[in-house]
Amino acid sequence: MDIILLGPPGAGKGTQASRLEEEHGMVQLSTGDMLRAAVKAGTEVGLKAKALMEAGELVPDEVVSGIIGDKLDELGPDQGVIFDGYPRTAAQAESLDEILAARNRKLSHVIELVVDEDALVERIVGRYTCGSCGEGYHDTFKKPAKEGVCDVCGKSDFKRRPDDNEETVRTRMKEYRAKTEPILPIYEKRGIVHKVNGMGSMAEVNDAIEAVLSL
Ligand code: ADP
Ligand code: ADP
Ligand code: ZN
Repeated sequence: MDIILLGPPGAGKGTQASRLEEEHGMVQLSTGDMLRAAVKAGTEVGLKAKALMEAGELVPDEVVSGIIGDKLDELGPDQGVIFDGYPRTAAQAESLDEILAARNRKLSHVIELVVDEDALVERIVGRYTCGSCGEGYHDTFKKPAKEGVCDVCGKSDFKRRPDDNEETVRTRMKEYRAKTEPILPIYEKRGIVHKVNGMGSMAEVNDAIEAVLSL
């Protein structure tokens, strides 16, 4: 089972992908995470991506499609994946079809997280993660049980993304509306799009996704 989680920045894609990893043994493929790792490592991909990411603009299609293909080749043929943050343009959607077909894989579901845009800025500016294990947190919506200590790994090494500020979020939302939302009809025609209300609690959204996946 290969699925796409689609939704604007802050919709909850990463949060829900990590729940699906835990519950179903799927693997999350987040192009945002891969690009941040490349920036940190100072690779050629990272050098191409850094300034664009800081501005909230999209990285060129061939760069992201290349890294997705490479990652899939590291996985077994039966390993189900969750595409998080990819595809983001019509060209990427086309590449993904080719990438999957070449590996005998098929998309089973595209889950669109439907959210209220006003809530997104609050979600994004309050977002932070554990720098050691990657667990996601939020200033208001998901605080660690013990202040300053990661629930999962016990470390105190939290970080915030440089692009998680109000100004950049607005640019990212515009990019989503202009380039990513228009790819939905490609999948609607195939009958694999499922709209899920992303405005409930994290557990409620998870339940709604589970209901879709068990169809
Ligand atoms: P995305 O990957 O779509 O950008 P995230 O999963 O990183 O979004 O979520 C953005 C922020 O909002 C995170 O800090 C996360 O803890 C929080 N969040 C995610 N889902 C919900 C939810 N259903 N209700 C409240 N806050 C949420
Ligand atoms: P969010 O979780 O807020 O939706 P991501 O972590 O997915 O954000 O992406 C962060 C940034 O990385 C984007 O603003 C963009 O610059 C770049 N990026 C990530 N995925 C893609 C992609 N599929 N195509 C182009 N750029 C991407
Ligand atoms: Zn941790």
